[in-house]
Amino acid sequence: MATVLVVEDEPAISESLAYSLRREGHDVEAAASLADARERADDQDLVILDLMLPDGSGFELLAELRRRERPPAIIILSSRDQEADRVAGLETGADDYVTKPFSPREVVARVRAVLRRTLKSAPASEPAGPGLPLVCDGERRRASVRDQELELTKVEFDLLQHLLAAPGRVYSRAQLIEKIWGDNFAITDRTVDSHVKALRRKLGTAGGDPQWIETVRGVGYRLRERAED
Ligand code: CA
Repeated sequence: MATVLVVEDEPAISESLAYSLRREGHDVEAAASLADARERADDQDLVILDLMLPDGSGFELLAELRRRERPPAIIILSSRDQEADRVAGLETGADDYVTKPFSPREVVARVRAVLRRTLKSAPASEPAGPGLPLVCDGERRRASVRDQELELTKVEFDLLQHLLAAPGRVYSRAQLIEKIWGDNFAITDRTVDSHVKALRRKLGTAGGDPQWIETVRGVGYRLRERAED
């Protein structure tokens, strides 16, 4: 099914996760340190990452993986359950977060959900129709709500396309800036907010719902997975 790297220094946890994930059909590797994880991180679809490792913080590896051309999906694993870590993890680009103690079944379910989102979103040029009546055709650069075409600027189109690539996934403003503008340091969080505002208005005008793009307080934005919630 997928290649999964479990980065965890507690053998009992690592082994039970690897066992459960293999039983689910995944191709699993394990690493017990950052150094070990770096050697095994190539070609992984998903990395399960403990934050407290003997040679440093999982956040270091998270940042490195995010800079890769094809970053794996990442689920953070930690005994630290403070809100600050959760937010930091999501802002740094983690796809999900599990707090210890957890049951392997819970992690397997999260893995399944994250892979469903990330693997499906890989071919970005496909006209993608999620649970929302929203279609975005990357090749023709056209987007529509129930056949009603949206008149979008380049930035609005790029924004919508990125959100639509992984409905339900939260993107921080920093991630959106990096994806849409690259290394343009003149772009601020406010710029992102104003483009999101314009995009929401156009979704509403075309017969959609401006709230399909949700604000996740203290983190960023995400596209709803379905129209009604
Ligand atoms: Ca640990």
